Amino acid sequence: MPKSILKCAKCGRYTLKQTCDCSGKPLDPRPAKFSIEDKWGKFRRIAKKNDI
Ligand SMILES: [Zn+2]
Repeated sequence: MPKSILKCAKCGRYTLKQTCDCSGKPLDPRPAKFSIEDKWGKFRRIAKKNDI
């Protein structure tokens, strides 16, 4: 299973390589700052702090 899939900014194809066949630069298609794990980690820390 691939660690992360990238989408070429130039041709729009998905690739796992750092450089696309079209010589474009593939980027992570997901928003960089979005993370479900961090979101729930924050809730867990609050819950732990409040001893719920
Ligand atoms: Zn490309």
